[in-house]
Amino acid sequence: MPDPILSVTGLSKRYATGFQALKNVDLQIERGEIFALLGPNGAGKTTLISIVCGIVNASEGKVTVDGHDIGADYRAARSLIGLVPQELTTEAFETVFNTVSFSRGLFGKPANPAHIEKVLRDLSLWDKKDNAIRTLSGGMKRRLLIAKALSHEPRLLFLDEPTAGVDVTLRQEMWALVRRLRESGVTIILTTHYIDEAEEMADRIGVISKGEIILVEGKAELMRKLGKKQL
Ligand code: ATP
Repeated sequence: MPDPILSVTGLSKRYATGFQALKNVDLQIERGEIFALLGPNGAGKTTLISIVCGIVNASEGKVTVDGHDIGADYRAARSLIGLVPQELTTEAFETVFNTVSFSRGLFGKPANPAHIEKVLRDLSLWDKKDNAIRTLSGGMKRRLLIAKALSHEPRLLFLDEPTAGVDVTLRQEMWALVRRLRESGVTIILTTHYIDEAEEMADRIGVISKGEIILVEGKAELMRKLGKKQL
């Protein structure tokens, strides 16, 4: 993989409690792929995403996004990343349009109502643009999280357990949406507890356990090794 969009080398994290959440993680993500990071509760998935996004400091190691070091060149690296967390923390009375527009502004990008409109249309939220967030359904709130993450035109999108706690219909909707995003040229990394989700979505799957990436495989090989089950 000569020119990965994301390169993680020798990444370790020891929290102030002394707990070592990541141990010497190496990971390269290819442009345009969907990569699933599969692991049980506490494996270190959120810690890894948080370090890559510059939210948490690494104890050791290096992260570059399109060649930009997240520590040394934070603004350039972070502006290439969209982060879709599990839950909305936004102001419940704010409107959909303003929320997404505000997210873009946080990255220092000039206002671009046409781009916000495109994102909201692509996510079937345009007819809700003037609605307060608290009035949205669960599925719409999930799509709004993605709209916020796409507001500044990132090249790499992290989805942290995009289908945790959702019903079957919404799960299928999220899967279709992730595929459309990839078709639009965005590289996707998603975390999940579910092997079937990783198999359905990903080109390659990394298995993380107790802070170590223990396997990175194409999905066919992994399915042969592990069988279908929830980790
Ligand atoms: P989940 O699937 O439950 O979200 P995860 O794979 O994302 O789990 P992390 O949230 O990265 O796992 O947590 C990895 C380990 O690090 C856990 O044991 C957790 O308790 C610990 N941890 C996370 N944040 C901190 C912190 N700020 N201080 C100390 N320990 C932490």
